[in-house]
Amino acid sequence: MQSPHLTGLSQAELSDFVASLGEPAYRGRQIFAGIQARRLRSFADMTDLPNELREKLGENATISTLTLESRYISSDGTRRYLFKTHDDYPVETVFIPEERRDTICFSSQSGCPLQCTFCLTAQLGLLRNLTSGEIVEQIIVALNDAYGVGTRTPRGTNLVGMGAGEPFLNFDELIKATRIMKEPSGLHIVPNRITVSTAGIVPRIRELATIPDRPHLAISLAAPNDELRNELMPINKKWPIEQLMAACRDFEKSLKRGERFTFEYVMLDGVNDSDEHARQLANLLHRYRLHAKVNLIPHNPAEPLPYQPSPRDRVEAFQQILESKGVHAFIRRPRGQDILAACGQLAARTTPRSSEAVL
Ligand code: SAH
Repeated sequence: MQSPHLTGLSQAELSDFVASLGEPAYRGRQIFAGIQARRLRSFADMTDLPNELREKLGENATISTLTLESRYISSDGTRRYLFKTHDDYPVETVFIPEERRDTICFSSQSGCPLQCTFCLTAQLGLLRNLTSGEIVEQIIVALNDAYGVGTRTPRGTNLVGMGAGEPFLNFDELIKATRIMKEPSGLHIVPNRITVSTAGIVPRIRELATIPDRPHLAISLAAPNDELRNELMPINKKWPIEQLMAACRDFEKSLKRGERFTFEYVMLDGVNDSDEHARQLANLLHRYRLHAKVNLIPHNPAEPLPYQPSPRDRVEAFQQILESKGVHAFIRRPRGQDILAACGQLAARTTPRSSEAVL
């Protein structure tokens, strides 16, 4: 059996763990700060602990389970990390530098069980759920690589749960990871800075609405009617649009002042991008009295996906129709396409532009 992965423990759980080794509670707080605030990757680096304790920890626990296989750097500065878990499953994380605040896109599963026809991750199938520790560790490594070990992040960081996997099929570990990350004595990334995206796992959308300190929500829609959505996102057969929208309607009631949620709409040339689709989408949102905004994501192509991105003028026309009907729509700029780091491109592939990481 694998020894306990302390990166996935809350501060209280860490205190219990150190107590089980016969150590006082304050050691738990020190170790928590070592992992989460100083972002150390080995017990040996925790020089504020006695040597003997560091050795004992090394024999009984671990804090780094992800092994970096490769790091890819895009011409736009985006970085993709390809890790292996201790049991040899791929995990990918993307660091996206932005003008105001950088974003880290993390994975919740290795592979993905959903079979969205436009997404490369689907081709892996589900390999396994990631643990809370494996989720938090992705963030720690990406922060260290971007800013240096233990340094303060210059502008704070946004997180998006939009990497590989369906976060709401790994809900408990996801929420646990967000609780660990919000600790002021640790990473201190509050849920308000985190957005998780779902393909529409309706019961978990309803559950998220009941969690007081919860991340923001995004829903991947991709089609404005059941016929097309069944084809593009087979999960729609389980939770059709009507059920999804009813859950969104209820979710909206739980929003705090100024909080919005988002629909993501991948734009596939000649498939879901007509004027009629835009009108259907606007009508759908009106019918459920939703105020959510829509992010239009031009399809990121990758072999062997059978789609092309909608041309720019089509995306703009689609946006115009939504706006003219009072729906706020934004066109997302693809990032990291050249290293297969953009939305829907994570499939543990190797690409050129690999470089040594300094972690
Ligand atoms: N399973 C979750 C989390 C993944 S988020 C979800 O579906 O929401 C990944 C986002 O990228 C989703 O909005 C998805 O619709 C979008 N996407 C998937 N494949 C894409 C592609 N090839 N090009 C552009 N966007 C894509």
